[in-house]
Amino acid sequence: MPQTLLALNWKMNKTPSEATAWANDLKASLQLGEAEVAIMAPAIDLQALSWFLKDTGVQIGGQDVSQHESGAYTGEISAGMLKDVGAKYAVVGHSERREYHAESSQIVAAKARAALNAGLIPIICVGEGLEVRERGEHVSYTLDQLRDSLAGITIASAEQLVIAYEPVWAIGTGKTATAADAEELAAAIRSALSGLLGEVGAGVQVLYGGSVKGGNIREICGQPNVNGALVGGASLEVQGVLDMVNALK
Ligand code: PGA
Repeated sequence: MPQTLLALNWKMNKTPSEATAWANDLKASLQLGEAEVAIMAPAIDLQALSWFLKDTGVQIGGQDVSQHESGAYTGEISAGMLKDVGAKYAVVGHSERREYHAESSQIVAAKARAALNAGLIPIICVGEGLEVRERGEHVSYTLDQLRDSLAGITIASAEQLVIAYEPVWAIGTGKTATAADAEELAAAIRSALSGLLGEVGAGVQVLYGGSVKGGNIREICGQPNVNGALVGGASLEVQGVLDMVNALK
């Protein structure tokens, strides 16, 4: 299994100037340890981040990507454009995209395929809402979403894909799933991945996301099937990122 992945999801925060100042602060104090750090920034910040973070080992990625390669799709950003500015990853199917932009798992799968075709690593997000969890259907719901979000996807190596389990009720709420909750779904996702993608599926990195921060990341990422975290709120301050990197050392 590759290094633990710390994927930072800035969401719609930080102008290019703020991103540049943040990157310079991070550069001054970051000593990469066991974890790979990757910033999922607003698309308009990526060019500056790519420049200011070159030679640091910190990776960048998009928060979304078009399912189309190019053409008359006003406002969209293609996988090729992300690749061209140096992105390694593209998040697809974040619950905020699924909810506020009506992205179905079919669209998510198409976006993931577009990312793969351009040589990006899609980070496909899945996870249940509170009602589903309260009905006790979180495992079957999440695995159905996983299967539909992987439609038409084949990979030659485990390094081409990342899955993030993000229970919607734990995102931005301060309510973290317990490490055992995260492990339950990460293990279920891993065994489903072998069925869906063949032997390489079992080696795909599975992240947990939802109110992760310096104080809880070690326990969560210490679970056997959790290989990293997708972090929103705690990624906005440089100190928050340093705390997480240090906790993983
Ligand atoms: P949070 O967000 O860390 O603020 O809960 C996680 C995410 O939405 O990816």
